[in-house]
Amino acid sequence: MPHFLPAALAILTLSPQQAPEAWQQDVSYRMEARLDEDVQTLTGRARVAYTNESPDTLRDFYLHLYLNAFRPNSAWARADLEHGIRTFQDLAPADQGFERLERVTVDGEAVRVSWPYAPDSTVVRLTLPEPLPPGAGIVLDYDWKARPSTVARRQGRRGRHYDFAQWYPRVAVYDLERWRDHPLYRQGEFYSEFATYDVTLDVAADQVIGATGVPVEGDPGWASAAAPGTGTVDLQRDWYGATEGPPCVERDGVRTCGIPAQRDLAPARPLGLLDGGAAAGRKRVRWHAENVHHFAWSTSPDYIYEQGSWNGTAIHVLYQPGDREEWGDGKAVRRTETALQWLSVVFGPYPYPQVTNVHRIEGGGTEFPMMVMNGGASQSLILHEVGHIYTFGILANNEWYEGWLDEGFTSFQTAWFFEERGAGRSQWLGNESRVLDLELRGKAEPVTLQAERYSEMGIYSAMIYTKGALIFWMLREMAGPEKMMEITRTFFERYEFRHVDQHAFQSVAEEVLRRDLDWFFGEWLHTNGVVDYGLDGVDVRRERDAWVTRVDVARRGEMRMPVPIRLTGEGMVHDTVVPGDRLHAEHVIRTPFRPTGVRLDPGLVTMDWNALDNAWPAGPLSGSVYARGLDDPLGSVPAYRDRAALRFFPLAWFNDAGGIVGGVQARTAYMGDIRRALVRVGAPGIEAAGVGGASSAVDPGSLYFLLENPILFDRPRFGMSIEGFAGEGRGLFRLVGERDVSAMPLSAPRRFARVSLTVAGVYGGEYVVPGRWTPASHGEVEGELGFRQEGGPWSVDVGLGAGLSTDDRVYARSTMTGELRASARDGWSAALRLFAGATVARHGDAQSAAGAPRERQMFLSGGDPLVALSDPWMRSAGALWDEEGWVSGGGQILGYHPGLSLPKLVTLTAEAEGAPMRLGLGLQAWPHVFAGVGVGSSPEPTDAPPILSPSVADELDGWRHPYASAGVGVEVGEGRSPVRLRFDVPFFVADPRVATRGRDGRVRFRWTVRISGYR
Ligand SMILES: [Zn+2]
Repeated sequence: MPHFLPAALAILTLSPQQAPEAWQQDVSYRMEARLDEDVQTLTGRARVAYTNESPDTLRDFYLHLYLNAFRPNSAWARADLEHGIRTFQDLAPADQGFERLERVTVDGEAVRVSWPYAPDSTVVRLTLPEPLPPGAGIVLDYDWKARPSTVARRQGRRGRHYDFAQWYPRVAVYDLERWRDHPLYRQGEFYSEFATYDVTLDVAADQVIGATGVPVEGDPGWASAAAPGTGTVDLQRDWYGATEGPPCVERDGVRTCGIPAQRDLAPARPLGLLDGGAAAGRKRVRWHAENVHHFAWSTSPDYIYEQGSWNGTAIHVLYQPGDREEWGDGKAVRRTETALQWLSVVFGPYPYPQVTNVHRIEGGGTEFPMMVMNGGASQSLILHEVGHIYTFGILANNEWYEGWLDEGFTSFQTAWFFEERGAGRSQWLGNESRVLDLELRGKAEPVTLQAERYSEMGIYSAMIYTKGALIFWMLREMAGPEKMMEITRTFFERYEFRHVDQHAFQSVAEEVLRRDLDWFFGEWLHTNGVVDYGLDGVDVRRERDAWVTRVDVARRGEMRMPVPIRLTGEGMVHDTVVPGDRLHAEHVIRTPFRPTGVRLDPGLVTMDWNALDNAWPAGPLSGSVYARGLDDPLGSVPAYRDRAALRFFPLAWFNDAGGIVGGVQARTAYMGDIRRALVRVGAPGIEAAGVGGASSAVDPGSLYFLLENPILFDRPRFGMSIEGFAGEGRGLFRLVGERDVSAMPLSAPRRFARVSLTVAGVYGGEYVVPGRWTPASHGEVEGELGFRQEGGPWSVDVGLGAGLSTDDRVYARSTMTGELRASARDGWSAALRLFAGATVARHGDAQSAAGAPRERQMFLSGGDPLVALSDPWMRSAGALWDEEGWVSGGGQILGYHPGLSLPKLVTLTAEAEGAPMRLGLGLQAWPHVFAGVGVGSSPEPTDAPPILSPSVADELDGWRHPYASAGVGVEVGEGRSPVRLRFDVPFFVADPRVATRGRDGRVRFRWTVRISGYR
């Protein structure tokens, strides 16, 4: 593939737009802090020197106290409530985090403080005693007490292990958008001023510390915690220069104290909190860091230390006892080295003295300058988090507004690393399908939405991480890998230690590629939609000594991308790229060979969602649209990106009326879920000994089809299905439209509103399993409105329908199914299910006790027979499982005859599933115990199912005849396969006269069978 940026898109010649002059405030922190483990509290004192480099006069000032997020009524805890998360709102006082500002002065004067987001206290506003003009400085002094929460979230504490992040009152950013005061939320991270940090920590003598910066004085505990063979620990004491120099500097007439001179480190200026030496059993460690926007640290007396070094950068790894397998023996060290090596290629030399990689309390990982706190030591996590030291740490974006610029960027470089090492394209396609699914379902939100405004965490992460990475990937595919490296390296070189935004990155990309990219970043960052180009026509002609191909390209999606086109023929390939702005465009392509194939976006690099309209020729036999093959009946239809899978499988079945039937089944799907279809065709039956011949009319064969999520009007219609059946004496057509009305598109519970139209009829009663259908020839049409909630601990499905039958019936029908589920720790789970259904009907002029046609009544043992029409092994009398086959729905009192339908029915069933047992050959078995009770009304004797002998029918007369059954079952499945076979033994039924197989005793061997997961 040529890397493409077509000339047509380069109309706008390059003139990098000049942003207003950006500034960065000059900040330095001198901090003293003492961790008292007996009261689990850190006491701190800080002196912050702040120079206003902006052109504005500042009248107030903001600090972030982010540990206050991890307590009730914080903005975070309250936002969580909207998502049903109560973690921090319900946290007990002893477990909460806090950060209490105890004293604050500006240039020695007390100031007024206010809490603009109260009851949230993660932001405090100070009213400056005097306005701070451009170029002038102030010194803030403050004391505070702080404690992380026991529920870890990018900070935390457990026993003597403390992950200190966001642990000190931190100066908010003042930039072009003025004060960036922002409460902390679950969605979104941080934005801070670059600063110099000089921090003295007073801790128990046995604590081992990892931190941002270099330990310039005191012992962090590494040597004594070192794993065997570590060698001499490199503390890098001299990195920031000797500890001498003036304690105060004077600039522009402003005297500012506490800022160490650049390469001449001053002695730690005492703030009065840690006077004298360390107490007995305590120690002090002084850390120094420059050009960082946060100082994080983690401490535990149990840490084990390993060190490494790459190109002059020290690597400090601190892991926990028991981690040796995953972290130890140099594993985490080497992976951190690998990350530094790769990142120095992608961006440039690592500018800090060290990188510290600690095993934090929480899983996952969080980035800090010079430091990552990780829950594991995988190469991908280390690449991601150490990558953040570049994108977020050194190239410091505002993570509330432009998370794509650090999360998307680091996800991109991580995937790029693995791609270069053989992972191939699959990871991009996986990311793509996650994003496309949200876009096609209309659930995507813009990448530049303010983080906490995403409707849920899953969408935030899909847009920021996944789509963010894909944006960089598409840029790389357009630019080519060499130019992409030039972009990333130039971006780093120009913006090292700067705040960055879209403009900064885009202007570098435009400069390197010498193209305007407003269209690209504009649409991918700020809007939603899909790319879809399709071939409307191809015409190949010979003109003199060349072949001329006219390619009609239609734009069917909202997004515009350059369109790569590939012509193939005579063993040759011609690649070109055309602009994709117009809705329809004809492109003329000359080739020395005769093209026999044309494909748009052959490399799948533009996120063109529908590749089914990208190929010419496109017939079902060409192979360019359908990947045909033999089906694996136990597996799902494969999910290809460039073609739809089409799978065939031979079938055979039999029944009493039709004899032995040969057939074929076809399944197809695109990208797993789109335009999914199942077709089963049966030939005319063959009469054979024992089966067939009962029919007076020869059935000409049968056809069943189910089409789900079809592509209509250029989009898949998720939730739409069309189902049809003709043959074996019956016909069915059903149209269902279901709309996802969930409050949160990705999280449980999911809610769906449903409307459906069903047309069904019987024309050959000899195929019908006794009792399941009203046997005389008739037809019916029924409409239904429904609602379904699934996921979460309970689910419900209600439906209300009305129908007309050609046997002069008008009926109404309603059903309700509710389910409660619970799972235990040892793998057992239990479910309680309530079903209620009723039909009422008028038959001619009279109210009919029989209700709706029999097939629309309530079935005691399982779902209605319309559902069973899809299954040739159970739909007709004399089929393999005509009495034992079980379909979902209905009363679910297993063990009763599947032909027992009642106008009104209420059942309550309970089921427990055990932990899976391994059977060998990859098979697993899940044991089940079930029981159910129900009451039902009996039908009118004239319409009673034939399994009810007249005497039994008489006895059941009237409402409230009781039913009950109990039994055990086992479900068997193969590990990879979604398909499971379930075999149930309802050994007890309360009224065996209407049981399936064996009506001569309440307790005896009966069985039912079902197949689930087959799609
Ligand atoms: Zn990240």
